[in-house]
Amino acid sequence: MERAREWLRGASTIVALTGAGISAESGIPTFRGSGGLWREFRPEELATPQAFARDPKLVWEWYFWRRGLIAAAEPNAGHYALAELEARTPHFTLVTQNVDGLHDRAGSRNILKVHGDIWIVRCLACGRESLDKRLEFPETPPRCECGGTLRPGVVWFGEMLPPDVWMAAERACVEAEAMVVAGTSAVVYPAAALAPLAKSAGARVIEVNPEATPLSGLVDCSLRGKAAEILPELVA
Ligand code: NAD
Repeated sequence: MERAREWLRGASTIVALTGAGISAESGIPTFRGSGGLWREFRPEELATPQAFARDPKLVWEWYFWRRGLIAAAEPNAGHYALAELEARTPHFTLVTQNVDGLHDRAGSRNILKVHGDIWIVRCLACGRESLDKRLEFPETPPRCECGGTLRPGVVWFGEMLPPDVWMAAERACVEAEAMVVAGTSAVVYPAAALAPLAKSAGARVIEVNPEATPLSGLVDCSLRGKAAEILPELVA
């Protein structure tokens, strides 16, 4: 822990990569691990363009359930610790796979949302995107003013990441002197490639996760524990 704290204190360019695990202690289920299931469906079966084409109502019902959980949740000490780290670091980028917006609410500013945002809706017909925080719509699936079907503004399994956001994330990893990777199983690509990229470009990589991941053997320091407990200590 002490070594990792010094790396963060000594670095002027830091990148953090977060995944579902950082929001677990805010009460938002992760995709992998216990408690991540909705009805009998696995997220991998719902978060795909094919699932939406087959049954948009079912997929939207799942998103309404997730929106409800997120709306009732609060950022936790892990989110706040990263906002604090940003405030004291000259160049800080937060790359998140999360769609829940809890980093914004904790005060993080330079955020790259590589998997989109659950509060954005996008029209399949006219492509228009807008922020829409409603927890219910008059009809399911909801419709755009143009009459087209709206979908959640998130990246589903099998879809491309927004290219500009992704390129900025890669750049941040290549430039970083230190990287914090918290709460990600590191199995969802291409996001899982960011830590190896930072490492090969010379960053000290610190992982925070209660469980071992495919990254654990590669990182410079693996801190086993919950993000809400470890991150505040790391940043203190
Ligand atoms: P994941 O569900 O695959 O893995 C979660 C990881 O978090 C696991 O490695 C687990 O050991 C770890 N973890 C569990 N509790 C933790 C804690 N308290 N502190 C630190 N780590 C903890 O999540 P992923 O790697 O982010 O990939 C899945 C995809 O799911 C991502 O694309 C993401 O967009 C999406 N997702 C997002 C949310 C959200 O926005 N909150 C929630 C679920 C899934």
